[in-house]
Amino acid sequence: MTPLSSLIQPSENEYLNCIRCGLCLAVCPTYREYLNETASPRGRVALARKGLEGELELSPNLIEQMYSCFACMACNDACPVGIKPADLAMEMRYVQEQIKPAPWKNTLFGGLISKPQRMELATLPLRLYQKLGVRKMVYTLRIRHLLPSKIRDMEAMLPHLPQRPLRKVLPEVTNAKNESRYRVGFFLGCAQSLMFSEESAATVRVLARNGCTIITPKETVCCGMPAAGYGRQDLVEVHAKQNIELFEKADVEYIVTDCATCGSKLKEYGEILKGNPQWAARAESFSKKVRDISEFLMSIPLEKPEGRVEAKVTYHDPCHLRRAQGIWKEPRALLQMIDGIEFVELPEADWCCGSAGSQLITHYETSLKVMDRKIENIRSTQADYISSGCPGCQMQINAGILRNNLDIKVVHPIELLDRAYNNKKEE
Ligand code: SF4
Ligand code: SF4
Repeated sequence: MTPLSSLIQPSENEYLNCIRCGLCLAVCPTYREYLNETASPRGRVALARKGLEGELELSPNLIEQMYSCFACMACNDACPVGIKPADLAMEMRYVQEQIKPAPWKNTLFGGLISKPQRMELATLPLRLYQKLGVRKMVYTLRIRHLLPSKIRDMEAMLPHLPQRPLRKVLPEVTNAKNESRYRVGFFLGCAQSLMFSEESAATVRVLARNGCTIITPKETVCCGMPAAGYGRQDLVEVHAKQNIELFEKADVEYIVTDCATCGSKLKEYGEILKGNPQWAARAESFSKKVRDISEFLMSIPLEKPEGRVEAKVTYHDPCHLRRAQGIWKEPRALLQMIDGIEFVELPEADWCCGSAGSQLITHYETSLKVMDRKIENIRSTQADYISSGCPGCQMQINAGILRNNLDIKVVHPIELLDRAYNNKKEE
């Protein structure tokens, strides 16, 4: 067996300082559902410590507690002595991969998710499922209700897919509508291109309208978050280097993304590659340029839309935006500048929705419990729209809305801003 001392250890090494105060328990969604110490941040820290010190075997059960963490980062913010249990749980997955690598992860993250063309091909059946009217039939004939509940909920996560991935449609260069004041690189994430293309098309329109010349490199690869979530930090570095090179060639002042998850990972490239003399400065320079779309728009003289959007709107904070990037005022300010919108604050807006990338698939029961609480909060607002700038959250909330037969639409805040620009009169 590989000796523990020969492995790359977690960089989050503050765990020795845990004073077992339990403050992190109060904010943890998995602990709230199970009231079980091992499903809590404090429990995960203790398990990781004993595993890393060789007192406990890094058994499948121990590692499972690291995978059952939703990586929502609420515990990181709550800990009074600066421990980051969420980061530790994530890095323990990498420790385990070094001991017992799973070959399928090479195929999935190295061979598929990192290759945009292959991803486009692999998701073709989903586009055909919608384009050929099969989905409509499944809903109209109520066949959907015959499916097992897990499959039904996974199906419900699918948004309305574009006929063609946006990567194939967006030009490499989009000129500013009037005078060009900023040269902006647009990081088009995989999910945005393949599933939420209307949102990203809206992002580019809004940027162009606000004085940006937009460069969208076509060969952008996955930001690396899925590989990181499955313990393949080594592959994250490969993705990071490819993306850094691409945007260096684009020679831009800012790198904007409308995906909260991509943004949080892109901002980490500097940290991830800081020990690599060839890449450290380049990665740091890249990460310093990254902005979430709401962050960027609220930092420039943004044109106030003339049109109105008559709707009651609430907002869910993606963990990767609020916790990882500290961005929560900007999307709210952006929504509140649209005339006609009645903004209503969502109770527990900063609590995880239960998505965490793929938890609805891998940890169905827990994910459902966390999602149900989110949906009850959304229901209580009586809003017409629930807005959020993360594809994972949008898919999860969409599944919850369909599951509960709610008449609420899920949107990205940028879509409402774009709509307001295009609405000259009331809707
Ligand atoms: S990241 Fe979230 S789910 Fe994981 S331990 Fe921390 S609070 Fe709990
Ligand atoms: S809040 Fe920090 S110090 Fe307190 S139990 Fe949790 S990890 Fe330990």
